[in-house]
Amino acid sequence: MSTARCDCKQLEKELDAFHRGDLSDDQTEALRRHLAECRHCACIERHEQAFLERLRTMGKTGCCPEALKARVLKQCAEEARET
Ligand SMILES: [Zn+2]
Repeated sequence: MSTARCDCKQLEKELDAFHRGDLSDDQTEALRRHLAECRHCACIERHEQAFLERLRTMGKTGCCPEALKARVLKQCAEEARET
């Protein structure tokens, strides 16, 4: 299955902008469509959402968001492989 408009790598790149509301309507639509079809990316989106929530509640506690995010992505990759 190949959707040229929004593949997994592209989605990972655009997810930040998506959560900030920076994507155009077309981009948001393509991203949502991909999320609906791709378990891997839906999982990432779900974890990112929770991750962002956690960041908001933690505030600036000196935790490293990049490390946390890397862990989230790794966790999703493993989850997708198992199921
Ligand atoms: Zn995907």
